[in-house]
Amino acid sequence: MAEERAKLGAATRLIHPDAHASRDFNSLAVPIYRASTVLFDGLADAHDKASLKGDYTYGLHGTPTSRELALRIAELEQADYCLLVPSGLAAIALVDLALCRAGSHLLIPHSAYGPNVRLAREFMSRFGVETEFYDPLIGSGIGSMIRENTALIWTESPGSVTMELQDVPAIAAAARSRGVPVALDNTYSGGVLNNAFELGANISVQALTKYQAGHSDCLMGSVATRDEALADKLEATHQTFGQGVSPDDCALVLRGLSTMRLRMSAIESSALKVAQWLKSRPEVERVLHPAFPDCPGHEIWKRDFKGSAGVFSVIFRDWDWSRLERFVDALTIFQVGYSWGGVASLAMAYPALTRPSPEAGQRLVRLNIGLEDPEDLIADLAVAIETASAA
Ligand SMILES: *Cc1c(COP(=O)(O)O)cnc(C)c1O
Repeated sequence: MAEERAKLGAATRLIHPDAHASRDFNSLAVPIYRASTVLFDGLADAHDKASLKGDYTYGLHGTPTSRELALRIAELEQADYCLLVPSGLAAIALVDLALCRAGSHLLIPHSAYGPNVRLAREFMSRFGVETEFYDPLIGSGIGSMIRENTALIWTESPGSVTMELQDVPAIAAAARSRGVPVALDNTYSGGVLNNAFELGANISVQALTKYQAGHSDCLMGSVATRDEALADKLEATHQTFGQGVSPDDCALVLRGLSTMRLRMSAIESSALKVAQWLKSRPEVERVLHPAFPDCPGHEIWKRDFKGSAGVFSVIFRDWDWSRLERFVDALTIFQVGYSWGGVASLAMAYPALTRPSPEAGQRLVRLNIGLEDPEDLIADLAVAIETASAA
């Protein structure tokens, strides 16, 4: 054998080594399997596996690392199927592409995550999908907007930036009676503060980028369902569009999952302290935090959620955009950046925001609370309010 191998060139021996460590190894951490190519036991095996569901066939369609994460997200959400995609936005796109066709009608709340709105307006429209936007507080009134060709209803609760809570059970009941699937962008809950399927959603979408990954260093999304027919459509579209995820990113999310509940609890309590302090300030008109009565749909939050997360918005009284800008730029612990769910506190304002009104949108700052000491965050806000007010 050694003689046979000695006849091979160095290049061949480097690519086809004979030396292998024992694979009898059982670590607590999930191994990172990097793969495009998956090997088969001959051609017949390759053909057999290609026709069966669930076998490993190609890195794009799953590795043990990505499947472990998909199964854990399904378990977290009490779903039967879960697909992973490269971002939360890719998860939204996967649902649109799997369920809509030319001539479809799509319903999206005004409060939806901005890129979800843009995808519908600027992309799905090019393929003959008509989108209608609805009041996030519509509840069972959604029934009167459902048409023969309604293919999908998006919900997101609380909404992005303006935090409107939606009556997902009422919307889902109206949709169910007309046979229309409801997708819930459940990123805020993380799958921990509520259960999308108990609320009546047929599909739950998460930006795992936020609390699951938890450290602002990786992007990923998930699409979960309990419905086999929907799962088939989603999986076919997932494969067609080549939506693979990196096993290294999966490992980061897997690591994040084990501390997610603790991070969320600490963040929840800090965010409540900071929000409470802001509420007490004369400069503040409204605190849009689901646990506060100022938040549209607060009663729904009390009914449907087990707690709150670390992202909320503040509307300042009588300020204008330039004062808002001075405030945000005066913050030193809060940093300016998009996204949320990590360990660092962030602030963002949106000059084009037209909710709750075009005027009030100019006085709104969204905060993401991280894991810093809440007293330091409050002191940072106090100095920035003073700086903004003094000028
Ligand atoms: C962040 C976010 C997304 C998108 O997630 P990415 O991974 O950043 O693409 C989708 N929906 C909501 C509600 C979000 O907050």
